[in-house]
Amino acid sequence: MKLSKNYKFWFCTGSQDLYGDECLRNVAEHSRIIVEELNKSGVLPFEVVLKPTLITNELIRKTFNEANIDEDCAGVIVWCHTFSPAKSWILGLQEFRKPLLHLHTQFNEEIPYDTIDMDFMNENQSAHGDREWGHMVTRMGIERKVVVGHWTSQAVREKIASWMRTAIGIVESSHVRVMRVADNMRNVAVTEGDKVEAQLKFGWEVDAYPVNEIAEAVAAVSESDTNALVDEYYDKYEILLEGRDADEFKRHVAVQAQIEIGFERFLEEKNYQAIVTHFGDLGALKQLPGLAIQRLMEKGYGFGAEGDWKVAAMVRIMKLMSAGMKNAKGTSMLEDYTYNLVPGKEGILQAHMLEICPTIAEGPISIKCQPLSMGDREDPARLVFTSKEGPGIATSLIDLGDRFRLIINSVDCKKVEKPMPKLPVATAFWTPQPDFATGCEAWILAGGAHHTAFSYDITAEQMGDWAAAMGIEAVYIDNNTNIRDFKKDLMLGNVVFGK
Ligand code: MN
Repeated sequence: MKLSKNYKFWFCTGSQDLYGDECLRNVAEHSRIIVEELNKSGVLPFEVVLKPTLITNELIRKTFNEANIDEDCAGVIVWCHTFSPAKSWILGLQEFRKPLLHLHTQFNEEIPYDTIDMDFMNENQSAHGDREWGHMVTRMGIERKVVVGHWTSQAVREKIASWMRTAIGIVESSHVRVMRVADNMRNVAVTEGDKVEAQLKFGWEVDAYPVNEIAEAVAAVSESDTNALVDEYYDKYEILLEGRDADEFKRHVAVQAQIEIGFERFLEEKNYQAIVTHFGDLGALKQLPGLAIQRLMEKGYGFGAEGDWKVAAMVRIMKLMSAGMKNAKGTSMLEDYTYNLVPGKEGILQAHMLEICPTIAEGPISIKCQPLSMGDREDPARLVFTSKEGPGIATSLIDLGDRFRLIINSVDCKKVEKPMPKLPVATAFWTPQPDFATGCEAWILAGGAHHTAFSYDITAEQMGDWAAAMGIEAVYIDNNTNIRDFKKDLMLGNVVFGK
């Protein structure tokens, strides 16, 4: 998927006029070289734009307000080459509303032992200028990322690149609009939540539509449009009839093609980027949207099942954060379904009734038609595949009544030992870190849901930073987790975020 905006990040160097014009010329030239080299490195997913050196209250305030207004500006990177008295930054920082990165670097890598004098020291003093600046940002309670090291270092560049993607998740969050088709599944707790509070915290608009309004948009899709998409499916995917009549099979597939087109037109027309459905409330739809939803997720729409709008929004955000990533392995809604409890082989089989995003697939993707064994509609067509191996994160955003908590579990995805020929759904399989028992115990203690927003491409650090920017609690379950300390994390969360 592609982002709708051509995002850029501004590079602002802090200084002052105490050291003379020659020093300021060097500061500007060094900043120009750093920005040029960062852009040339090919590591950063977005362009860095150099701004004039910030030396006065007025210019700092003006620059930050311009950054607020510029729709393409996704954040500001600040570095203090020399000392920059931090009171000059107060008004600008107070009014700034976008993601902030403090790049704590220095133009020269090594101390020039033979030539160093006091002029050099005064020009190259981020070791103390950046501390003055960091003090003010901390005093003002502003959330920011700090990256430390020389600007030519690959590790530093990768940290900046990673933060840029977090910043996209932050600035895009307030543009996420979730369409709820019908309501949440009756009596289910964990898919519920405070939609007003979600808009306050995350900026999400979450609206409900009667299912038959979208069913009408589906019915309005022409047969020729539908058949053209069916042809595309038959070109792209393996068709597994499994004894079904070929024409009857194709008619079932066509129902999903018509839903895909109808849903997408409805979402586009009304400007929604995420959608939820509910298998128990399908109105005039002939099948539960399966293949159709899988294809929409692949295009970048967020999705949550059974009315789970929090998961739909989180899937959308994680897809935005990984947009355009080279060698991306995929992002999807998943559901903890069944365990393998054999010692040494423990893991959780991830699936859903149908709706798993094919971006996480490895190997062939097939279309099957099978009974749903739930609800009262015809057998829905769906894409079936298994998923990639490697590390990923499963996240669950829950509403605890007094606040939201984001649970972030690092997981290791594996292949299942044997094929599962009778299971007609897409699957993934993982072992939660630090191990199956501790990971599951921590997840349950934290109140984590059975639906998750999962990604191979986004890191726990990125999601934790996103949560911090949203002002909500985040807890991590990973190889550093032990239950005794994890319970203290939850207690601390109650103290800091509980009401
Ligand atoms: Mn479910």
